[in-house]
Amino acid sequence: MKESYTKFVIIGAGLSGLTIGHQLFQSGQKDFVVLEARDRIGGRIMTKDGIDLGATWFQSHHHEVSKMLEDLKLEKFHQYNKGRSVLVYSTMAPEHYFENDPSAPSAYRIVGNSMAMINTLAKPFKDRIHLGHLVTDVHEDNDTISVITNEHLFKAEKVIVAAPPRIALKIRFMPELPAELISAMETTHTWMSNAIKVGLTFEKPFWRAKNLSGMVIGQVGAVTELYDHSNAEDNRYALMGFVNEGLRDFSKKDRKDRILNYLAKYLGEEVLIYKAYVEKDWSQDSNTCGDTIKSIYMSPSYGNKLFVDSYMNDRLLFSGAETSALYGGYMDGAIHSGLLTANKLVIKKAN
Ligand SMILES: Cc1cc2nc3c(=O)[nH]c(=O)nc-3n(C[C@H](O)[C@H](O)[C@H](O)COP(=O)(O)OP(=O)(O)OC[C@H]3O[C@@H](n4cnc5c(N)ncnc54)[C@H](O)[C@@H]3O)c2cc1C
Repeated sequence: MKESYTKFVIIGAGLSGLTIGHQLFQSGQKDFVVLEARDRIGGRIMTKDGIDLGATWFQSHHHEVSKMLEDLKLEKFHQYNKGRSVLVYSTMAPEHYFENDPSAPSAYRIVGNSMAMINTLAKPFKDRIHLGHLVTDVHEDNDTISVITNEHLFKAEKVIVAAPPRIALKIRFMPELPAELISAMETTHTWMSNAIKVGLTFEKPFWRAKNLSGMVIGQVGAVTELYDHSNAEDNRYALMGFVNEGLRDFSKKDRKDRILNYLAKYLGEEVLIYKAYVEKDWSQDSNTCGDTIKSIYMSPSYGNKLFVDSYMNDRLLFSGAETSALYGGYMDGAIHSGLLTANKLVIKKAN
């Protein structure tokens, strides 16, 4: 097994871990690595065929996302919502159509998709990110802390766990973490880890021609929420939304048939003439979802104070959307916690 020393080891190349890496790099602290279990960066941010299969939207009160986009010189744009939207509230009653209030601010999306933020953030320190490095063990030694992956032993001054708390429990910590921390990790739901997303791309935005916004909402059908997901330049057209979790255990073909038939009913048969069809069930992804799938529709409370403390003689810290008291679970929380953690590392360095 290869062995090396680096001052800081960040576990997880999601938005939070990359925010820490970016802050360290910008402050001139370049002695760090980011270890990522997957063969890609971004964690719960992932774009395929122009479809955001993970995080997509942010609101005007999500200041950390806005500020990060500004710093990275990326643009935002409004979620398309012109025209009539469909509300399906019963299988027995006809659908209801409504117009979105044009004066109400719609959510923002990121120009170039959410992965544009991740790729731009990671670019300056790409060579410090090690993909395919699943961390299995973290050991406190006499004057260092060891991080063991499937192929490497990293010795460091400090380790930052930027994986969701429930997922980080799969790591063997020696000595064991305090019981109350383990309990907090076990009970902190990983936001959206149960979600199934679907996206379809099209030659033309056929729904707009019918004065439809592309929004279809309702808990009773195959898709619980659907939105226009065309790009900011308005030359690639798509629909994207959340699949009813009741379809999780159907075969891929059955689920797809039901989704297409459902959408054809409310948007028209043109939906069947798609260019690309993509879906992702996050509950099947072991780097996001634990063994038990927990469906949570209201944002649970996040930011347990135990995640702000450090452990193993101040050598082990936590970061990530679920550790954030501010907008926990969201991209904004992931950045917020990353900034707080990076501050601790950089300030300690200055002393
Ligand atoms: C379907 C879906 C829709 C969402 N929609 C929105 C939205 O519209 N707006 C919004 O603000 N937020 C949304 N979110 C939430 C948003 O994606 C998260 O808040 C944010 O991306 C979390 O970033 P993170 O860095 O904290 O964690 P993650 O993105 O989960 O990153 C953690 C990283 O750690 C890695 N890792 C885990 N264990 C190990 C290990 N042992 N060794 C090495 N690496 C490991 C993982 O592979 C992952 O890359 C959505 C999430 C999902 C899944």
